[in-house]
Amino acid sequence: VPAVVASLAVGAAVPQLAAPLAAGAGVGLGLLQEIARWGSALPAGHLVMPAAPVAAIPSAAVLLALLLTLRRTTTVEALRRLGWTSAAVVWGWLIVVSLSDLRVRPDEGSELALHFLDVGQGDAAAIRTPGGHWILIDGGPLGRSSDAGRSVVVPYLRRHGVRRLDAMVLSHAHADHLGGFPSILDRMAVLEVIDPAIATAEPLYSGFLAQVEELNAPWMRARRGDGFMLDSVEFRVLHPDTTWDGWGQDLNENSLVLSVEYRNFRAVLAGDAGLPVEAVLAGRVGRADLLKVGHHGSRGATGARWLAELRPTSAIISVGDGNRYGHPAPEAMARLSAAKVEIFRTDQDGTIEVRTDGRAMTIHSRRGVVTHTVSEP
Ligand SMILES: [Zn+2]
Repeated sequence: VPAVVASLAVGAAVPQLAAPLAAGAGVGLGLLQEIARWGSALPAGHLVMPAAPVAAIPSAAVLLALLLTLRRTTTVEALRRLGWTSAAVVWGWLIVVSLSDLRVRPDEGSELALHFLDVGQGDAAAIRTPGGHWILIDGGPLGRSSDAGRSVVVPYLRRHGVRRLDAMVLSHAHADHLGGFPSILDRMAVLEVIDPAIATAEPLYSGFLAQVEELNAPWMRARRGDGFMLDSVEFRVLHPDTTWDGWGQDLNENSLVLSVEYRNFRAVLAGDAGLPVEAVLAGRVGRADLLKVGHHGSRGATGARWLAELRPTSAIISVGDGNRYGHPAPEAMARLSAAKVEIFRTDQDGTIEVRTDGRAMTIHSRRGVVTHTVSEP
């Protein structure tokens, strides 16, 4: 860092001197990065921190404390400075933690809560039952240099005091849904994995199955009609169905479509299912208060008939800002508007949290808080 500063300072006056200084600094920074990489690869060699700028404060303070104490001085003076700076660091850290998002806020309400995480172009939803059990549906995308499971989902769950997932549900084996699961499985206990289990050559999927097997986590194949109850919340698999024509073919159209019911409240999470699945399910789903829109709001999903049957009050579109697919499509947005559905988008509204006691649902997002009564079933 001093070499970088020096090279910038002399660059204007003596450019010939700036280049070797910058090159030397580059070697040093590269070495530092490698050391960090080796260190983080060791077991317990790193800590997962929420991605907030305040997270850098403690390390900066420790560095400053070291610089202050290591400057030439007597031993007594050095110890005195060390004492004061440590106290300042501890107090500073306590203030930062109590004021910021870093504080673990265990979700302790007696309501059902659905958290639609802002993971970019992909899906990840964490559901907390009234009794404090957590179910994760999809793990966010995995890109060449990004992993939403590691950088968004795990920090979010830890911040909410989640130690283990009662179930990890995969909607389908595409990287924008499955991508985050491997890092989540690495970092969090998972009691059961639920998967539509459609045969595919996706290497990400075979790697995931191998990991599940290695961890000895119970694995369940989800089919229409399957379901489970947890703290009076009913989870039902509406799709895939082995008896329909498109069975086992397109991964999107074999997405696990999930119904989540609690008292009068009902949510339908459509994965990446589109119009063909909506046609298969027609007449078999009924009213829902909340719809997690299929396939990130693509024009091949969320048809007028589907909306007329579900009559959702609110819809969530899990979508990345400026994604290359043009999601959500104007056609799907127009159909939602025509059906008078209130639309939330993770790219604009951030992480969206829906809380319900089964009679009313309250939606918290960057946009503020709205409350709707839940319709009679
Ligand atoms: Zn997708």
